Amino acid sequence: MNIIVPDEQAMHATGLQLARTAGRPGVIYLEGDLGTGKTTLVRSLLRGLGYAGKVKSPTYTLVEPYSLANLTVYHLDLYRLAHPEELEWLGIRDLHRGDDLLLVEWPDHGAGLLPPADLVISIEYQGAGRLLRMRALTPQGKAMAAGLNEAKRIVSS
Ligand code: ADP
Ligand code: MG
Repeated sequence: MNIIVPDEQAMHATGLQLARTAGRPGVIYLEGDLGTGKTTLVRSLLRGLGYAGKVKSPTYTLVEPYSLANLTVYHLDLYRLAHPEELEWLGIRDLHRGDDLLLVEWPDHGAGLLPPADLVISIEYQGAGRLLRMRALTPQGKAMAAGLNEAKRIVSS
């Protein structure tokens, strides 16, 4: 599914919509160049899941945990990870025992050691806005993506 997201406000709305169905255990990869809006989307997703506090980019901490009412969410940004092996020091095995939601920016930096994705969201620059591509790789991922409004589906795949 491809979605055109013309501005930051629309990105916020997209994150809130995604939250309608993405608040469940699983793994979401967020791909895209620096500044495409991965953290912006995570912020709105967490807001939609009921988290009212500040959402910092985990650029330096690599991982930020969020304890929600029924779910723990881990937001990872692996941009600064030099080797996938460093994920072991982050305790990646403990982070994902199957009952948490992992949101991972720069998943390619953790190749081979990250749990596989249920849903992959890729964001590209498109003029002043963004093009968001969603690929569900598992039934779980499909269920996660279901909350996005039909009206936003520009191209189905
Ligand atoms: P990333 O985490 O991918 O590096 P950020 O979310 O930190 O990117 O920053 C993205 C920047 O782009 C922010 O300044 C945000 O306001 C802006 N932005 C986010 N989504 C959109 C959009 N759909 N269209 C235009 N600008 C956007
Ligand atoms: Mg980011």
